Amino acid sequence: MKHGLVIDNPWRCEVCGSLAVQEQIWVDTNTCEAYSQAYNRDENYCCNCNENTYPIRESELLQNLDEWWHGLDFRQMERITGYRQDDFDPEDGYQDFVDVCDNWWESLSIEEKTLLWSQK
Ligand SMILES: [Zn+2]
Repeated sequence: MKHGLVIDNPWRCEVCGSLAVQEQIWVDTNTCEAYSQAYNRDENYCCNCNENTYPIRESELLQNLDEWWHGLDFRQMERITGYRQDDFDPEDGYQDFVDVCDNWWESLSIEEKTLLWSQK
């Protein structure tokens, strides 16, 4: 089971969303049992950022990303998605435009979402 290990709600870098996060731990010299000791930023590391960053749960990161997305105005959504508000029916406050943009957002991977969010 070396390959395809799927972790439920894994830790991800809070900055770039990468799964390649590491933490320093202490190992019991006798039993080789590992004890997590990473409480500080210094003791956490992201291999993608090459920096000390905090890891957060994937669910938390997704929540942050969705909050950011739903706080954008139409101009920002146009710039990011490439869709034009004027191309859509103005009915219900351009709901069609919003739906298309939301579907576009949902089709992105968490890494793609994080990249857009980090460029804000
Ligand atoms: Zn990172």
